[in-house]
Amino acid sequence: MYDLINPATGAVFRSVEMTSAEGVDDAVARAREAFPAWRDLAPADRARLLRRFADLVEAHSEELARIEVENAGHTISNARWEAGNVRDVLTYYSAAPERLFGRQIPVAGGLDLTVAEPLGVVGVIVPWNFPMPIAAWGFAPALAAGNTVVLKPAETTPLTAVRLAEIGLEAGLPEGVLQVVPGFGPEAGARLVEHPDVRKIVFTGSSKVGQAVMAQCAARVKRVTLELGGKSPNIVFADADIEKAAASAPYGVFDNAGQDCCARSRIYVEASAYNEFMDHFLNACRGVVVGDLLDEKTEMGPLISAAQHERVSGFVSRVPAERIAYQGEVPGGAGFWFPPTVVTDVAPGDEIQCEEVFGPVVTVTPFFSEEQLIELANLTRYGLSGSIWSRDLSRALRVSRAVQAGNLSVNSNSSVRYSTPFGGYKQSGLGRELGPDALAAFTETKNIFIAL
Ligand code: ADP
Repeated sequence: MYDLINPATGAVFRSVEMTSAEGVDDAVARAREAFPAWRDLAPADRARLLRRFADLVEAHSEELARIEVENAGHTISNARWEAGNVRDVLTYYSAAPERLFGRQIPVAGGLDLTVAEPLGVVGVIVPWNFPMPIAAWGFAPALAAGNTVVLKPAETTPLTAVRLAEIGLEAGLPEGVLQVVPGFGPEAGARLVEHPDVRKIVFTGSSKVGQAVMAQCAARVKRVTLELGGKSPNIVFADADIEKAAASAPYGVFDNAGQDCCARSRIYVEASAYNEFMDHFLNACRGVVVGDLLDEKTEMGPLISAAQHERVSGFVSRVPAERIAYQGEVPGGAGFWFPPTVVTDVAPGDEIQCEEVFGPVVTVTPFFSEEQLIELANLTRYGLSGSIWSRDLSRALRVSRAVQAGNLSVNSNSSVRYSTPFGGYKQSGLGRELGPDALAAFTETKNIFIAL
């Protein structure tokens, strides 16, 4: 049994049974058995089941949100959004079974067709930062394309995934089509990765584990999608709406207590606007509401665990005190609370500027030219997201094209929409999730030539 801890209080609130490697084997065997019937279900019937699943998620959204508040320390507003995102992703991909088109390609001597075929059993490995959405980004398109899924949630946050699988069954998904196996990464997760009957792994987590997963997959030429870390820039040109950019910047990095791979944790401000930006920005930081997770007005909660608190504290303790321009307040007592923290006067090679902190910590750095900015923005090994604030759209587009990252936003800090592709450049990942093309990551293209 594994004790689950409420991040806001530090208290154990429940224990869960962890799945052994043999337990994973059993789940994979059931998924394999369930596959042919699920693959062969009429497309409209598969679509209908996914829509019913979405409807039941909607009906249970408050329950799911409250589970996440207790298990992951999310604010109730965020957790409601996350349950809604699961509903939306299921609804979006419920349209896919009837639109999984192949092509007819002109060839000599016959007729040529392509068919998109499901892979079989797909393993989805989920981290603790957004347990519900990241699970759905894997299982919804995988199921829509006709695969069966075995999903391993993070050790610390299995509860919403377990509940989602139950809701799926209630909606009418056949047994074995979507299974959740709570378990330890190096045991249950590793077994999914090495299991010969698992045809594809969707992994979201740290770059270190992601690299190991990719190496394991290579041994079997197993398909793999990776969503890893980030150290995303938030770029503010002097001609931007400075007040708006500054007001939104805290939420671009402190949301989910900074435990977001898209967190805009490096702010770059054109030097001539730096002081004006900082005035508005620090003001906005003071306004971030940290506290009671069940209060709808709360904007930031605790970190996930004591270990994460220690990690984030370590990063901040290594920053010279005079460079900490602001540190907010958090509830006292137990729980893994860490205050919103702003660091200035950093050099490009500083640890705090290069490494993913995964906590509510942001650096602010002035820049003097577009050329210098692009160099700074591309310095890290990551390339997931970024924002560009400017009223000059030509420049905003030019810089969007120059920043090596998968998800750029202009005059906005939002990265994720279920209908648009999401994923990283460089060491932030491999492949894309969400959007119209995600099905391609869960199918093989078969080419059939018919001689006439
Ligand atoms: P984080 O730093 O977000 O915890 P991890 O990469 O450690 O990131 O964990 C992400 C997911 O990967 C979790 O579900 C975890 O249990 C799983 N995991 C950890 N180690 C392994 C492994 N060796 N093989 C497969 N999955 C793993």
